[in-house]
Amino acid sequence: SVLADQIAAGEVVERPASVVKELVENAIDAHSTQIDITVEESGLKRISVVDDGDGIPDEDTEMAFKRHATSKITDRKDLFKIKSLGFRGEALPSIASVADVTLTTSTGTVGTLIHNVGGHIVTHTPAASRKGTDVTVKDLFGNVPARLKYLKSPTTELSKITDIVNRIALSYPNIAFSLVHNGRELMRTSGRGDLQQVIAGIYGVQSARKMVAIAGENPDFKVSGYVSLPELTRASRQYISILLNGRYIHNFQLSKALIAGYGSKLMVGRYPIAVLAITMDPLLVDVNVHPTKQEVRISQEPELSQLIEKTIFDR
Ligand code: ADP
Ligand code: MG
Repeated sequence: SVLADQIAAGEVVERPASVVKELVENAIDAHSTQIDITVEESGLKRISVVDDGDGIPDEDTEMAFKRHATSKITDRKDLFKIKSLGFRGEALPSIASVADVTLTTSTGTVGTLIHNVGGHIVTHTPAASRKGTDVTVKDLFGNVPARLKYLKSPTTELSKITDIVNRIALSYPNIAFSLVHNGRELMRTSGRGDLQQVIAGIYGVQSARKMVAIAGENPDFKVSGYVSLPELTRASRQYISILLNGRYIHNFQLSKALIAGYGSKLMVGRYPIAVLAITMDPLLVDVNVHPTKQEVRISQEPELSQLIEKTIFDR
């Protein structure tokens, strides 16, 4: 029901940046190589995510707007070795229940256009479209004034969008991303697979030159990535990105370990720019902790923290 979708939306779509995240993750799950994000008025007026991925077959398009209609898990056991980013089938119905959503999609043959307003499909027509998907979300939270009141300033909401797009781009150097806000390009990556190039596309070429490669491993974990030289620091931890098996995560202990590895090289209140990619057995991670999947539980977290601290220290 629309009401159930709106309740789920309270968890999944907190703000414009959550919509961007969910739509981009869907594009990634659909094997896209190029993902272009266009935003107007910090996402409240419009968010468009256009990809060149698999597309949705016409007969599945209406299902995609139904709760728990995920196409990504066919077996209960799959829950324990999740490879795709989405698996709850909540994002599209949740977003549609609090906005005006137009989905244009094609698997390469005939395309489909679906217009969904406030959780109800009002149009379903054939559309000529190239292979891939365009999801355009307008008037976000237009029917939930209470939610609008909780949002921060347009500048803050936009910075949350940039932050999320940057982190995703860092996680997928093989995908070309672009982000445009009110007609201005904020970032662009080439998709050529080079992490340092992605860093340049986000933080600028000058900063990318001041990043040092790091690598370390023990029998359970492998860590690699880049950290900035002590001359290039920021006043916030926000520039530390941690990727776990290709998925960016929030983990206070792990970023603390990274900062500790820096030790005396850092001034008080200064933090490095860092991208740390961790590879480990997916069975040792529990991603199913929170609907937005950024919080994860890791068994042997202390060992991992030690490895990170040592790898940064030894660099
Ligand atoms: P989930 O990602 O958890 O499966 P969503 O609500 O985000 O659920 O999406 C529902 C379904 O719609 C997906 O399982 C997928 O089949 C389809 N879908 C959504 N976005 C795209 C896209 N950009 N390309 C291809 N399929 C998509
Ligand atoms: Mg999804």
